[in-house]
Amino acid sequence: MDLAYTAEHEALRKQVRAWLKQNLPKKERGAATMEDEAHKVAESKAWQRKLLEAGYVAMGWPRKYGGREADLMTQTVVNEELVTARAPSLIGMMGIQMVGATLITWGTEEQKERYLPKILTAEEIWCQGYSEPGSGSDLASLKTRAELVGDEFVINGQKVWTSYAHIADWMFCLVRTDPDAPKHKGISYVLIDMKTPGITVRPLVQINGDSGFNEVFFEDVRVPRKNLVGELNQGWLVANSTLSHERNMLGSTTRTQMMFDGVLRLARTRQRNGRVAAEDPVVQQRLADLLTRVEAMKLHSYRQLTDAIKGRSPGIAASVNKLVSTELNHEIAALGMELLGSYATLSKASAHVVDRAIWPWEFMFTMGMIIGGGTSQIQKNIIAERGLGMPK
Ligand SMILES: Cc1cc2nc3c(=O)[nH]c(=O)nc-3n(C[C@H](O)[C@H](O)[C@H](O)COP(=O)(O)OP(=O)(O)OC[C@H]3O[C@@H](n4cnc5c(N)ncnc54)[C@H](O)[C@@H]3O)c2cc1C
Repeated sequence: MDLAYTAEHEALRKQVRAWLKQNLPKKERGAATMEDEAHKVAESKAWQRKLLEAGYVAMGWPRKYGGREADLMTQTVVNEELVTARAPSLIGMMGIQMVGATLITWGTEEQKERYLPKILTAEEIWCQGYSEPGSGSDLASLKTRAELVGDEFVINGQKVWTSYAHIADWMFCLVRTDPDAPKHKGISYVLIDMKTPGITVRPLVQINGDSGFNEVFFEDVRVPRKNLVGELNQGWLVANSTLSHERNMLGSTTRTQMMFDGVLRLARTRQRNGRVAAEDPVVQQRLADLLTRVEAMKLHSYRQLTDAIKGRSPGIAASVNKLVSTELNHEIAALGMELLGSYATLSKASAHVVDRAIWPWEFMFTMGMIIGGGTSQIQKNIIAERGLGMPK
């Protein structure tokens, strides 16, 4: 493994940094919170288009579908710079990283032509309709039923925790098309226009006050058969390729490093037991423990990157990445909360608030990330069974 960047990559880094300096929107948290919704959605879409025009969206996609066929190192450098600059997250991320990437592998030419361009421009926003009440970790037990009637699926059932459903134009959805087959074999992957009659979206309010996700109800929703991705009853295969994209997407070393740098700054400015917190041996021990794990995570992700560049199978690396990064982010945020003590309870509006109340927000947000995309326990099961060959 070569840990140095080439001169070419360093030049690219400079170029991206300069572009971001010129073009980064003023506000730090673009689409992360959903207050003042319509305005924020429009702003976030404009940001995605700007990035797209600069060539920094879906860089790895084939040129034919609007990408640049950029190699993994190029994508990594650009991604690192976006995170370092605290660029707003892309509103169309689910479209790009999940359904878009899946369509490139599984979609028909007609589906690719129809959906991919509007995913890139954020003209159409996507949501993921997988989880249901009682079918989260055990996703394959999902019950939302799709009956094929002529050339249409008629869909009835309910999804839950559907991020972005309240602003989404489309949903990529798992439905049960054969209730008599073994549970993994009777599922299909369909694309649903969210404006179809019979769909009701009910937003849920989260612990951090945002309402980013929803319940979605389907009552005799008619979806054309041509919206099926992959074969009928083969949705589990298609879905699993999307899930590994999701798990990769959730692990970002740069973000974890920045969170650690933030908590270190906090420790150097807050007081504890009559001295600067960073001089307190207990705090020092916590910081050292976290930093060691940040470094280990970084090396693991370099190894994953090297494997990907060399075309070696990633195995369970995406699960390790998801498990380690989400837990570590949450523990860093927890130290931030401890260092703040009772200041951690102040809202953004308070004159005494520290770091614009980012630590309590991070604490709650990172808790959700441990659950979303497959909980830590599920990742540990995957690592144990598929990675270490342990019995079920
Ligand atoms: C922020 C956020 C965003 C989300 N966005 C979406 C979205 O856009 N679309 C979507 O479809 N879903 C979404 N989800 C849902 C998410 O995928 C589920 O919450 C997750 O898969 C867990 O399912 P569950 O909530 O039903 O919990 P359960 O599956 O009921 O799990 C409850 C507890 O039991 C443990 N557990 C369950 N089974 C096992 C087992 N076999 N071994 C050991 N422990 C086990 C779990 O780890 C957990 O601690 C989101 C969730 C969050 C938090």
